[in-house]
Amino acid sequence: MPVLPTFVGVTPTAHDRNHGAGLRLTVLGCRAGMPEPGWPSSGYLVHLRDGEVLLDCGPGVAAKAAARAAELSAVFISHMHTDHCLDLLVLGKTLTQRPLPATRLPVYVPAGAAATLRRLNELFPLGGDGPGEHPADHVFRDVFDVVEYAPGEAIRVGEATIEPVAMRHRLPCCGFRVEAGGQSLAYSADTTTTPAFEKLAGGVDLLLAEATLEEPDRTGHGHLSAGEAGRLATDHGVRDLLLTHWAHTDGGWLDAQVARARAQFDGRIDVAVPDHTFHVSETQEP
Ligand SMILES: [Zn+2]
Ligand SMILES: [Zn+2]
Repeated sequence: MPVLPTFVGVTPTAHDRNHGAGLRLTVLGCRAGMPEPGWPSSGYLVHLRDGEVLLDCGPGVAAKAAARAAELSAVFISHMHTDHCLDLLVLGKTLTQRPLPATRLPVYVPAGAAATLRRLNELFPLGGDGPGEHPADHVFRDVFDVVEYAPGEAIRVGEATIEPVAMRHRLPCCGFRVEAGGQSLAYSADTTTTPAFEKLAGGVDLLLAEATLEEPDRTGHGHLSAGEAGRLATDHGVRDLLLTHWAHTDGGWLDAQVARARAQFDGRIDVAVPDHTFHVSETQEP
């Protein structure tokens, strides 16, 4: 477990109370780039009334996601940077070691990613009597049903509608807008500012927004500063803001990122911390 930093006006543990069956989000990992001890890379579990959806599967996320395999309804990958997808194969191989489910787990990926993932699997055969002869080599035949999504085409998962929205990043990248039971949350994935935020997050109850940078991105790589995340939340009528994708994880730095967002957004602001659950239904005074 990470040592929890102190936060400006934020008490993450207060969110671990059971607030019933509303839409919830558990942070499995929230580190930008490669993980640190106790801080896996990107992975977020959305709890629906009728299942769970994993958004991204970066390094350090697979073991946690596998522990929820019985509840998992689908996996969505925002883009093919390793900090968002590299544990997908680890998750798949883990699931091949268990009794196989009656139906494969839908894994929604960007265009072109299905071939990349299959190639990756083939590059690391476990072997047995020959390449492809071990059960762990049959991730895509036995446990994953890989589907390439199209931006703007909503996907139904149980009670939820999940729409991929094209963002602005170095690689093609989609954020996801999740609507379920009259509640809504949006995940920015990796992006700089873009008009697509209105489609992604206009009026949502909770925006899970990357806040990677201290200052606006001048490199063209495509990330948000914490101040930009706060400004976007204000401009698009977001109720609550959950900041994530941390470049650093010490408490002082996180406090400063919250303060930068706070200068632009009057609503509730929380900090993504591994293994904490945030309740979308929760309405509290900021
Ligand atoms: Zn990233
Ligand atoms: Zn990225």
